[in-house]
Parts: sequence; structure tokens; C-alpha cells
Amino acid sequence: MKIQLIITAAALALSSCSAVKAVTAGTLPAAGTAKQSVVLDAGHGGADGGGVSVNGVPEKGINLNIAMGTGDLLRLMGYDVTLTRTEDISIHDKDAEGLKEQKLSDMKNRLTLFNKADSVCVSVHQNRFTDPKYKGAQMFYHRENEEGRQLAEKLKTRITGYLQPDNERETKPVDDELYLLCNCKNPAVMAECGFISNPEEAALLENEPYQRQMSFAIMTGINDFCVESGRISKKNAENGSSS
Ligand SMILES: [Zn+2]
Repeated sequence: MKIQLIITAAALALSSCSAVKAVTAGTLPAAGTAKQSVVLDAGHGGADGGGVSVNGVPEKGINLNIAMGTGDLLRLMGYDVTLTRTEDISIHDKDAEGLKEQKLSDMKNRLTLFNKADSVCVSVHQNRFTDPKYKGAQMFYHRENEEGRQLAEKLKTRITGYLQPDNERETKPVDDELYLLCNCKNPAVMAECGFISNPEEAALLENEPYQRQMSFAIMTGINDFCVESGRISKKNAENGSSS
């Protein structure tokens, strides 16, 4: 019964989106049964605002809202969720001095969280480019992380399915240029949710209802990956649909 309520609530949250597709209950575990670790990283924070939107809004706050919204939804499903930050801070060690050292320490500490045993990891960011015409979410994974690729595909499918039906961006492998992805032993993805250099998409990404919709899409993508990779048993998912 609980699961049906959650799905109804989620459908309501998404009701302003024309691309809403039905979520079948069988794809979601019964509330509280998942027990799988998920680590969510809200990119940047504190002195590091990340990219700045066409409206002057730094991505760090958008990332935080989406990551925290995703975490809330995953916790409802019973996932064990760790967030790299829950406020506007850098998570560097206290003895790190100067911005450069603090940034290094911050990234090291995020990586330590990403390497928590048997976790599924997603780092939330926003993209930007000099030409404002580009838009659409894009997922990145490390070339040698096959499960990262699978997770990226699940996230892409849900984000485009719910929110960006015209988005044809390909999921991209990276080599050593992204520290977290390169050094993470778990399935890990950097999710660039959209372009804050595009006026239309920036307005959406700065809007809390759209951020919640993005959180929902990311939650379902993570859950799809956990079910299909056997981390969450299909039995749990089926029980969810009949309870
Ligand atoms: Zn970023």
C-alpha cells in the first residue's frame, strides 16, 4: 500500500511535465526493503560555486537541491543513503590551508565516501558552454567502469523519458580527467543534469519543482540499476507491487 502512495505522490509531483510516463510498481522495491548503499555527491560547495548560470546562479545550490531530493526519495525506498554534503560547504580537512589545498582535500574526502564498500555512486552537476544553444542532460562514466556505464544508461533513460524527450546526447566515457570517476571502485556516474548556459534550461534547473522532478528521475534510474544488477532482489520489487 505504501508503495502505491509513493508512486501516486511522485506522479503528482511530475504532473506539470508533459512527458510523464507511468511508473510500474514492479520496478520499485517495497518501502524500506532496499538496504543498498547509495552515495550522492552534490558537486562543488562553499567557496567553489562551480559553473554560473546565465542568470548568475552558481550550480552548487542546484546540485545540492537535486542530490538531497534524490536522497530523500531513495531513503523512502529503504536505501542507505550517504550525501557528500547537505549544506553549502566544502568538505576539506580542517588543517587544509588555502583554496587549492582545500579543494584537493575536499575531493579526497568525497572520493573516500564514493569508495564506501558496495555502494552505487552519482555525482550531480550542471553543464555550461560558451554557446547558449546547447541543452540537455549528459551522463559520464569512467571507460573501465562497466557498471558505471550501465548505471549511466539507466539514468539517461529515466531523465530523457520523464523530462527531456528530445535529448539525444550520448552517454560518454571519460579517461582520467574526472578525479572521482577515475578513482572510484564502485559503479559511478557524473550526471550533468542540463546546461545552465542555455536560458530556457537554466530557468528550469533553477526552479524547485523541476529540481524535484530531476531528483525523481535520478532516483528511478538508480533503482533500475540496482534491480537489474541484482543488488535489489526482483522479489522485493514484486512484493512492492502487491503490498
Ligand atoms: Zn560542476
